[in-house]
Amino acid sequence: MKNKIRIGNDEIFYFFNCKRLLYYSLNSENGEFQTENALEPDRINMIRDFFKGEFFFDAGYNSEKTLELLSRKKSVLRPALVYETKETTVNIKPQALYWDGNEYMICIAHFSRNKNKRHAAISSIAYAALREMSVEVSRRIYYIQRKRLTKNKVDEYFSKNIINDILRVKNGEIPEPEGRRLCNVCEYWDECNATQPDKAYLSLSTIRGIGSNMLEFFSEKGINTIEDLLKTPVNEELRQEIKSIDRLKMQAYAFSKDVAVFINGSTEIIPEPKGEPCYLDIEAENYPYLFGFFENEEYNPIFFENETKLNENSMEIFKYLSSKQFTVYHYCEYETKVLNSLAKKIKFSLRNTNFVDVYMKLKQNVVLPLRHYSLKNVAKWLGFSWRVNLDGRSSIMEFKRWVKTGNDSHLKMILKYNEDDCRATKIVGDWLMNPQLFNRKLEILDRNEVEGIIQGNIKI
Ligand code: SF4
Repeated sequence: MKNKIRIGNDEIFYFFNCKRLLYYSLNSENGEFQTENALEPDRINMIRDFFKGEFFFDAGYNSEKTLELLSRKKSVLRPALVYETKETTVNIKPQALYWDGNEYMICIAHFSRNKNKRHAAISSIAYAALREMSVEVSRRIYYIQRKRLTKNKVDEYFSKNIINDILRVKNGEIPEPEGRRLCNVCEYWDECNATQPDKAYLSLSTIRGIGSNMLEFFSEKGINTIEDLLKTPVNEELRQEIKSIDRLKMQAYAFSKDVAVFINGSTEIIPEPKGEPCYLDIEAENYPYLFGFFENEEYNPIFFENETKLNENSMEIFKYLSSKQFTVYHYCEYETKVLNSLAKKIKFSLRNTNFVDVYMKLKQNVVLPLRHYSLKNVAKWLGFSWRVNLDGRSSIMEFKRWVKTGNDSHLKMILKYNEDDCRATKIVGDWLMNPQLFNRKLEILDRNEVEGIIQGNIKI
């Protein structure tokens, strides 16, 4: 018998964020891939704060424990509701089920200003699951955003529709790529980027920088695909309407041809380092707690276990920086902001250290065939892989876990992740200095050639 497919919170998340990821996840032979849901503990805390004074039993996402608590009519935190349909095993996890004395209220906590379709889908499936289990459940759903409660009637038909839609994705053609930030932690990144459908016919939503308002604007002008955009000459009126139109056209060009385009006529973007090259990446939560330096194939982390230690010992960072003549490479402006602010506090001068923002150099000079220019995406595109599958948010969660438990395994994960961020910055910097040494297609265009593309004078 064919294996049933599992539908849970992750699948619903993928459905609304990247159907291609959902497709890969449902059809993968290696079992399911789960994203680290870094915010879930905060959503659970939101429920705890909201219902202060009420007692909830924690089911820990265990379906049997959930059933047992439901049979005793107890309020349940972190329930797991499981039921079967012909083709699926549904395992849905609302944040809580509140017993109000007569019936259960499904509770969904959210950070977004308003509830969205994903929240509505989870509540609808949770409602269907509870009905399936013959549990007395209210049609009113509690949507909780910090101290605010909104009660909405459940859309009973949504659960069936969404499950059918998910099955259609599983059995259909491979969908267009949609993810952006999600690509940073996506297990299927290589597979996704190796899949090269004829990109000219892809929707404009696959282009970096085009959001829903812009899509609507283009659609009104009959511009729906990458090919439509590439063919459209840019006139002053279009430039007035969309300030970034030149960049978008170059982005569409690079993406459709799968080529990195150097737009200023040269690959000489980053000058040779003055002194030793060093790669810096900072991890931060409420304060910057980890300064990772990677120099001469050696990783040197400076870690501060709390903010007081940072304030008392920040000189350690500057001692390291002044131990040699360094050129420090970093990705985005955060690193220099932090260092300047710390240096100011202790009246240290950074005048002798040369800093290069690799991201800024990249953004000003190159257009990549990618939909997101995060360090993760760019370095992965160049063949780099991280040893731990964390991202900014989940590394913060690891740090919080370390603070709470003192368990060094969390700290080790963060250090590995930070070291790999430094190494990734080096890879991107190396590519910018010598792109010919990497196995990636590139074009070096002068101003006239760029203008030709912007005006639509290209063969597609
Ligand atoms: S890499 Fe990004 S676009 Fe591709 S499947 Fe993953 S999330 Fe979707």
